[in-house]
Amino acid sequence: MIEHNIELRELNTFGIAATARLFSRFSSDSELGELLQQAGDHELLILGGGSNVLFTKNIDAWVLKNEIRGIRVVEESDESIVVEAGAGEVWHEFVQHCVQQNWGGIENLSLIPGSVGASPMQNIGAYGVEIKDVFEYLDAMEIKTGNIRRFYGDDCAFGYRESVFKRALKNQFVITRVAYRLDKHPKVNTSYGAIEEELTQRGITSPSIQDVSQAVIAIRSSKLPNPAEIGNAGSFFKNPVVEKATYAQILTSYPNCPSYPIDELHVKVPAGWLIEQAGWKGMRRNNHGVHTKQALVLVNYGGATGSEIYQLSHDIIENVKDKFSIELEREVNIY
Ligand code: FAD
Ligand code: NAP
Repeated sequence: MIEHNIELRELNTFGIAATARLFSRFSSDSELGELLQQAGDHELLILGGGSNVLFTKNIDAWVLKNEIRGIRVVEESDESIVVEAGAGEVWHEFVQHCVQQNWGGIENLSLIPGSVGASPMQNIGAYGVEIKDVFEYLDAMEIKTGNIRRFYGDDCAFGYRESVFKRALKNQFVITRVAYRLDKHPKVNTSYGAIEEELTQRGITSPSIQDVSQAVIAIRSSKLPNPAEIGNAGSFFKNPVVEKATYAQILTSYPNCPSYPIDELHVKVPAGWLIEQAGWKGMRRNNHGVHTKQALVLVNYGGATGSEIYQLSHDIIENVKDKFSIELEREVNIY
């Protein structure tokens, strides 16, 4: 079914008002196939949970909302299990389903908003884990032909918040299912961020994956704005990876600047730190601004437009460039 002039405010976590001229939902491959046939050459926008998009105008593209559900085990051995989920499954619910079965590998990715189908788009990551670590395959329908193609890890060109679907194959495929290989005898990964501290506070010395998931949920809930209360799309910018020489230059003026090793020649500098140093943390312009607890997150306090938020991101990028000679890149998909 095609709907006309649909308000998207409730369908993006930034809570930005924008209308979709054409809008349809699909919950199976065959429904998607029919829509693609009808669409012909019409530009499309595939929407999951709307937690990584910023609408800066009304949307002329035909918005197709992915609602393909279903979770099934496709392979099992003594060691591991391959679980396939429909692209329209809610990511956090899928994580909780796996954690409850004691299938390990994605517990550190608890409470990331959005859909399973978007998880490979930017190789979602948090607390030292990325989906590429557990990725088995995905199925995607080619927009031009309606054919389903299976992609394995090597086909996806996963990188830091990157995949082939954001680059060479952008706007060419609709992801319909994703499968992950999870561990039946999981070892926990607590070395990152505040997980260990949180577990210690809870008096837990031998954590299970359930404990890790609960710790991650608690940390995230205390630091990140809940989109149901304050509109946001998580980290607006990526953490820049810079040459060690550039980092050494920054250290001469900012000896406390943190970094994390990437390879022999590069380090990652937390974008949140750069933005905070440039004085933007907690800054507010009318009804939007920079979150008070995490400078990487831009927020809509209610009624802001996407172009106002885009302008704020532009001003932050320019200011950080002037101060540190580092050009921040947006992580959020702009429409
Ligand atoms: P959408 O926003 O609906 O879409 C994102 C992009 O993917 C769009 O370009 C869309 O066209 C495309 N797309 C979506 N589904 C499909 C599909 N099935 N086929 C083809 N293209 C598709 N991200 C992290 O990596 N780590 C985090 O820790 C994290 N924390 C967050 C915290 C908060 C509070 C918020 C609001 C966001 C956070 N994010 C994080 C960002 C976001 O949750 C993820 O990027 C998530 O995977 C987006 O899923 P979605 O379904 O909402 O995608
Ligand atoms: P944090 O733990 O305060 O850390 C700040 C930054 O330092 C993070 O960006 C993280 O990089 C980096 N970092 C911390 N410990 C590290 C380590 N041991 N090795 C390498 N890098 C390290 O960050 P936070 O804001 O509370 O977020 C916690 C996690 O959730 C992070 O992994 C973050 O990416 C993720 N997150 C992502 C989004 C999003 O929208 N993309 C939103 C909220 C949280 P990385 O970001 O590269 O991990």
